[in-house]
Amino acid sequence: MISAATTTRAEIPIQTTRAEIPVDELEVGAYTIPTDAPEADGTLEWDATTIVVVHARGACESGVGYTYADVSTAKLIATKLAGVVRGRDAMAPQAAWEAMVEQTRNLGRPGITSMAIAAVDLALWDLKARVLGLPLCRLLGMARESVPVYGSGGFTAYSPQRLAAQLSGWVQDGIPRVKMKIGSTPDGDAARVTAAREAIGPRTELFVDANGAYSRKQALELAERFRAQAQVSWFEEPVSSDDLGGLALVRDRAPAGMPIAAGEYGYDAVYFRRMLEAGAVDVLQADVTRCAGITELLRVGALCRAHGVPLSLHCGPSIHLHPATALENLVHLEYFHDHVRIEHMLFDGVVEPVDGALTPDLDRPGNGLEFKRGEAERCAAA
Ligand SMILES: [Mg+2]
Repeated sequence: MISAATTTRAEIPIQTTRAEIPVDELEVGAYTIPTDAPEADGTLEWDATTIVVVHARGACESGVGYTYADVSTAKLIATKLAGVVRGRDAMAPQAAWEAMVEQTRNLGRPGITSMAIAAVDLALWDLKARVLGLPLCRLLGMARESVPVYGSGGFTAYSPQRLAAQLSGWVQDGIPRVKMKIGSTPDGDAARVTAAREAIGPRTELFVDANGAYSRKQALELAERFRAQAQVSWFEEPVSSDDLGGLALVRDRAPAGMPIAAGEYGYDAVYFRRMLEAGAVDVLQADVTRCAGITELLRVGALCRAHGVPLSLHCGPSIHLHPATALENLVHLEYFHDHVRIEHMLFDGVVEPVDGALTPDLDRPGNGLEFKRGEAERCAAA
């Protein structure tokens, strides 16, 4: 638990009581960072990642949020959401969220719209915490002091040597669970997964992610082989996340000890409710940079609670860390190679895992992140 300290009322840095704190402006930029090697999963290949960064300003403070999304997301924030949020009360991010959702009704909520709302919502929650002089996790309320992570990468474009080195590197760093991509060449996946098990040794948990690449029958067969040959203990998106019946089928028939997970393409609470009601997953995944920010992520946590399903958070570890501490039914957070690299490049205040977990720095205000503007400008997207 948090260590108790004796604090007098006068020492608590409350800067506001009843007055509204208007949001003065939103600033948005998009930055494209090449990967350090060609990357691929079961259904996509890429060689660069774009991050859209929002700063929300008010009361002489600046909150920062971001999403990993196309540059068009930045345009939507600049041309639409900035005008919706400007002048609203920075103490009420939920009200700004509701206004953004209302004003984008005709654009369609999933996809770019929801990622744009996410980046703004994250910046607004960070701004509120900074105005109040609090770490964001303390503002949200901490159900936990630290957040377990799993190392994630293991791209299908990697050579066997690179795959082994990356996965075993996380193990050497004290992370007791690692995830690799599968699905690009289904006939070779069992051998690749078995080689990964040999590289990491017997005591580390091995997760696999097919990104929806398999048919139902392929997934059922490979689930048996992954478990028998490599003690795989997590099978993510064995079939398309649009095939809720297929996910439920694989969930029911997969070996014991192999949870089925999905949810990274969830952009609103209704998506997650449908996935849970279909009995599609043993563990639900959610991404705060896609599901419209902290405001909606907390609702996803409540949905999981109501369904008795654990929650795992997807990618972007630094932007997830503070809200993750508020989710009591959280099992872990994805420590994703690309995003770890980008977050270190573009932000000060990024924390490193210790004993397989991330712990927010309570001495830093807000989400603890400070944007390295000079570094970022060198990779500004067109
Ligand atoms: Mg995934």
